[in-house]
Amino acid sequence: MPRIVIDENRCKGCELCVINCPQQILAISREINARGYFPAKVVDPPRCIGCRICAIMCPDVAIQVAVNSAQYSFFEY
Ligand code: SF4
Ligand code: SF4
Repeated sequence: MPRIVIDENRCKGCELCVINCPQQILAISREINARGYFPAKVVDPPRCIGCRICAIMCPDVAIQVAVNSAQYSFFEY
């Protein structure tokens, strides 16, 4: 099963990942982060298909997707 890691303190709650996830398994948390935003969270991890659209869409590089032990993010850092 793919594993999604969201660095909630990089997230500004723009919802681009939420809107574009084809499985609609991302949502905005009700917990505020250290920067004063409501960050994205994964609400139904088993339904993730590992497409990485969320990581590609995120302007703040806050999401990494691991599929079969390979770790993907849009930028290396
Ligand atoms: S990898 Fe694809 S299915 Fe999984 S959370 Fe990201 S956009 Fe949704
Ligand atoms: S696209 Fe990035 S910054 Fe925007 S809500 Fe998703 S994780 Fe947060």
